[in-house]
Amino acid sequence: MYTCFICRYHEIATKGDNRRMFEEKLIDNLRYQCQTLEELSGLSFPRVRGRIYVRREDKAAFTGEQVEKIKNALSRCSGLENFSPALECEPDIEQILNLVRNSAGEQLQSVIDQKGRVKFRIRARRSDKRFPMMSKDIEIAAATTISEMFPKEQLEVDLTHPEVSIGIEVRDINALIYYQVFPGPGGLPTGSNSPVLALLSGGIDSPVACQMIMNRGCHVDFLTFHSFPYTPMASLEKVQKIAAKLNTFQKPGTLYACNLSEIQKQIRDLCTEKFRTVLYRRMMMRIANMICRRKKLNAIVTGEAVGQVASQTIINLGTIDAAADFVMLRPLCGMDKLETIRRAEKLGTYELSIDPQPDSCTVFAPPSPSVAAKLFDIEREEAKLGDIQPLLEKAYEEMIIS
Ligand code: ATP
Ligand code: MG
Repeated sequence: MYTCFICRYHEIATKGDNRRMFEEKLIDNLRYQCQTLEELSGLSFPRVRGRIYVRREDKAAFTGEQVEKIKNALSRCSGLENFSPALECEPDIEQILNLVRNSAGEQLQSVIDQKGRVKFRIRARRSDKRFPMMSKDIEIAAATTISEMFPKEQLEVDLTHPEVSIGIEVRDINALIYYQVFPGPGGLPTGSNSPVLALLSGGIDSPVACQMIMNRGCHVDFLTFHSFPYTPMASLEKVQKIAAKLNTFQKPGTLYACNLSEIQKQIRDLCTEKFRTVLYRRMMMRIANMICRRKKLNAIVTGEAVGQVASQTIINLGTIDAAADFVMLRPLCGMDKLETIRRAEKLGTYELSIDPQPDSCTVFAPPSPSVAAKLFDIEREEAKLGDIQPLLEKAYEEMIIS
């Protein structure tokens, strides 16, 4: 019966003096993700020598259903490299071998039932160097125990591609045995870096950009633009679903939904057609600036990738950047679209993103947008709009916040 989870982290381990802060953030995130498991309110998260453990305060075993729920919770904790449900005993070789005997049989037998034999591996680690046996000796003793449980022809040791892998960790206060290693999101724990604002469209790219930035330790709030009545409210509902999905990886961020249509009409009526897309984008940046300033967010994130569409040429990106008062983060800037799609599928946003809904950017979109909108030209176009600040303030005031 599993009584604890071993949580392993990687990048945090390289953080020198800040390591403690990163570990505490990771524990905060673990606690937050697990707190939704109401029946498991009495969990503790001890930190011991580069590992964090999740266990019940009463040290009782988890039920199968609880194990599944915790696995789901831990797989959402940025900063966590991987984790394993584990069985525990005293740091005593007889007890360890007993636990191997009692737990490995079922794991090995299920493969033998299917294939007639099983390839297995034992990996032991001794973090308590006072333990009288070396790691290699623990592995040999455990292998001997297993060889006594099955006929020789049913067992094969395979160190590279085992079907059953048995991990043993011996520490000063206990010993742990585990059979599986599940991946976490990796990276750094949310909250270990500054909060940011992400421009979230209903497309495939921006949710992936959000996830990448979350995994660098940033809490993400979201800003989406719609152009009601020129785009349907369904476009906004789609983005709300995507934001809800992303929020399962962090303490929920705010979604700001801003109607850009009045500003877009002004641009349509007063500016040169081919510059519309870049002009829209610069207006988006100005609204983003207002939110960042007022809500104390420190960067603007987009899902742009160099060269992907007309508005994403280097020249246009530069002209868009010039309207942003905060550092622009474009985690997908060098990424292949197929890789972005793979990540969106894994993240679980792809299915939501491919629902065809019109985007704010496509409202009054020119048939052939400029791929080289120089800042000089764009500033001249913006001068035609007169004082745009009242329209920006109105759009800001009327934002739907959820
Ligand atoms: P995506 O798949 O993320 O929509 P895309 O390849 O379709 O990206 P664009 O639509 O040109 O490219 O958008 C580039 C980036 O600009 C998006 O990733 C997003 O960050 C931002 N963006 C575009 N449209 C909107 C919108 N309606 N609301 C908020 N941000 C937007
Ligand atoms: Mg898009």
